[in-house]
Amino acid sequence: MEFIDLGAQQARIKDKIDARIQAVLKHGKYIMGPEVAELEKGLSAFCGSPLQALTCSNGTDAISLVLMAMGIGPGDAVIVPSFTFAATAEVVALQRATPVFADVLADTFNMDPESLKKAIEVAKQQGLKPKAVITVDLFGQPADYDVIEPIAAQHGLALICDAAQGFGGVYKGRKVGTIGAATTTSFFPAKPLGCYGDGGAVFTADKAIDETMKSLRVHGKGTDKYDNARVGLNARLDTLQAGILIEKLAIFGDEVEARNRVADRYAAAFAGHNEIIAPKVLEGCVSSWAQYTLRLPAAKRDAVSAALAKQGVPSVVYYPLPLHMQNAYKMHPRGGDIAVSERLAKEVLSLPMHPYLDEPTQDKVIAAVLEAIATV
Ligand SMILES: *Cc1c(COP(=O)(O)O)cnc(C)c1O
Repeated sequence: MEFIDLGAQQARIKDKIDARIQAVLKHGKYIMGPEVAELEKGLSAFCGSPLQALTCSNGTDAISLVLMAMGIGPGDAVIVPSFTFAATAEVVALQRATPVFADVLADTFNMDPESLKKAIEVAKQQGLKPKAVITVDLFGQPADYDVIEPIAAQHGLALICDAAQGFGGVYKGRKVGTIGAATTTSFFPAKPLGCYGDGGAVFTADKAIDETMKSLRVHGKGTDKYDNARVGLNARLDTLQAGILIEKLAIFGDEVEARNRVADRYAAAFAGHNEIIAPKVLEGCVSSWAQYTLRLPAAKRDAVSAALAKQGVPSVVYYPLPLHMQNAYKMHPRGGDIAVSERLAKEVLSLPMHPYLDEPTQDKVIAAVLEAIATV
């Protein structure tokens, strides 16, 4: 059994992907070939709004491009959740700005608005200028934007949505990609929309930010590649990956629906269990289910995972240590205590989740989880 079955997806569209790869080999425009612009058009169309989609090298550089285009640097604070993948805080530190950690909510795993407010105050007390907040759509569920947007607006913070896991989701009628000053995503193979290598994208309706990022992703180019207007990055998406993504994007909406059918069956199986807390999706929201993550009693979590492995059922802990406790980040300020992130790190366990998880296989996962929790 696979934790994420990329082979099943490939079998579905193998001919189309092969044809795309052959087309690129034939025209030979490996860097910024025509597939890159075609994909960017397709990505903005998927979000159904006139925003710009800019592809780039990966989901980490996507956030860096936004921070750089916004001119965020030393002396600036950027509020980030502690319970996330390291890239969310890493990009802030790389710009020599200060990440300030906020806690998350136990039921959605997403940023706690009260902790965000505290983090803004802490940043100011430390003499930093709060410039932006990076929300994370953790495990695929959009953060609670109706609550976070007014806080960001009141304090003059730019809202940057890290949707590396959340692309394909919907927040109360708004597609992920259309929210905030900019939304970033990742096409790492295991993400909901993944390519066959590294890739990423930024979505923004802000033409000035978009123009600056276009320069930044090619070494800060000016009128041409050998005119250097600013210090930038080499952050382009490969043409081959763009070609592959065009075909994957064509079935992505259908795959998000399939993931939701899998999630609904998991939710029905675990509903009402006294030791298993299934993930909660906010009213009116659609998760892209990058992960299906249970909360289990901390004392049992590792034993359950080991029992599942014995049954041939893979499970993974995302994330075992919150960022404010990591050696690389523990010196940075926090908006109060980060107790929920610390607790979740001990309780979470992610189960196999992908669009091609058939019902018999899923039933095996469910039976193995129920047996493990009853016996460990
Ligand atoms: C994967 C991920 C990233 C980084 O994306 P890469 O393409 O691997 O650079 C950033 N933030 C979150 C929340 C992620 O899950």
